[in-house]
Amino acid sequence: MKKISLMGATGSIGTQTLDIIREHPAEFHLVAMAVGKNIDLTRKIINEFRPELVSTSDKSTAQILKSEFPHITFTYGNDGLSEVAVYHKAEVLVNAVTGSIGLMPTLQAIEAKKMIAIANKETLVTAGHLVMEAANKNSVTLLPVDSEHSAIFQALQGEKDKNIDKLILTASGGSFRDRTRKELENVTVQEALNHPNWSMGAKITIDSATMMNKGLEVIEAHWLFSIDYDKIEVLLHKESIIHSMIEFHDSSVIAQLGTPDMRVPIQYALTYPDRLPLNSANRLNLAEVGKLHFQKMDLDRFRCLKFAYDAGRTGGTMPTVLNAANEAAVAAFLDGKVSFLQIEDLIEKALSNHINISNPSLSDIQEVDAETRNYVYSLLKAEAP
Ligand code: NDP
Ligand code: MG
Repeated sequence: MKKISLMGATGSIGTQTLDIIREHPAEFHLVAMAVGKNIDLTRKIINEFRPELVSTSDKSTAQILKSEFPHITFTYGNDGLSEVAVYHKAEVLVNAVTGSIGLMPTLQAIEAKKMIAIANKETLVTAGHLVMEAANKNSVTLLPVDSEHSAIFQALQGEKDKNIDKLILTASGGSFRDRTRKELENVTVQEALNHPNWSMGAKITIDSATMMNKGLEVIEAHWLFSIDYDKIEVLLHKESIIHSMIEFHDSSVIAQLGTPDMRVPIQYALTYPDRLPLNSANRLNLAEVGKLHFQKMDLDRFRCLKFAYDAGRTGGTMPTVLNAANEAAVAAFLDGKVSFLQIEDLIEKALSNHINISNPSLSDIQEVDAETRNYVYSLLKAEAP
């Protein structure tokens, strides 16, 4: 029986993690969880899974729930997130919050020597060097949940890193893959939220449409697999059947395939190095799929991907700026404050405004993250009618 702490339990990855726990009650047990503001879903989850510790993003939600569930311990805010991350009874932390808010609890869970199933890619983008250094020092394994990274992790089993030529990350292309840049000028939030293959949280769905998601994943892969940016390639593959591949020196390519279903990589992170049946998953039927398509990635069409490669190669605090500017710009787009293409412009301005700090400390990262968000807010204010 593996005891699990889950951050972001009410989200897309969070609820699919609960599906896995539900399907395997003899294998997994939810002991602690952190949620944001979705109180109705939190009630349902508590009733079904009975965790011992629950953290909410604000105090008032925790107080309401405490009056309904007096036997459960409630906490809240950033401290609450940290308490869930290091909860003494949990062996594994599933980090499924969105954004760099996941950084501190991840570092704390590493210090507490928890195994970490990491979906929260922003944490690796904003401070990959600190997270990997801490994980190595504490002999903690970071198990990828992101489907591309899980595919690479699976294809790597039994292989030696030294034999890798390159990683090939596949990209579905997001909601607007068939539109020209001109056609992107007036797209709506609703259109952007309509992803062709995956049903995910709002932020990552917009990131998929701008291709920033693939940019964040390139940086995530750089840290998780300790590989040069020159050896990470992105390939458009609209069916999302091949989740990613590794090309080895001898020209062999090993890929992982499956229907697009995040429960597969989530479950693999929880069962690694073993596997369990996943009866509710749709089996891949290649005869039915018929054809798979691939296309070279156009970095002029998808500028966010280029920003990410550049920021990753420059290193220092550039990826922190990329991530923070993106978080602020996507939130502004979802709030209807900027157009879709302005997301890129805001990120570009933030990157060119920043004076890079090489080998940043945790406090440098936290400062740059906050400054970048403030810079984007100031641009939004200046542009507001
Ligand atoms: P969602 O937006 O669906 O979920 C985010 C979760 O975080 C919710 O449970 C939300 O709570 C919670 N949350 C938000 N703010 C806080 C806070 N201040 N304190 C505690 N909890 C908070 O996101 P996804 O599940 O889509 O994505 C999660 C992460 O996984 C992201 O980093 C994403 O990039 C990554 N990922 C997601 C994939 C997917 O298929 N969805 C695929 C690969 C990676 P509430 O709703 O209660 O407010
Ligand atoms: Mg992914």
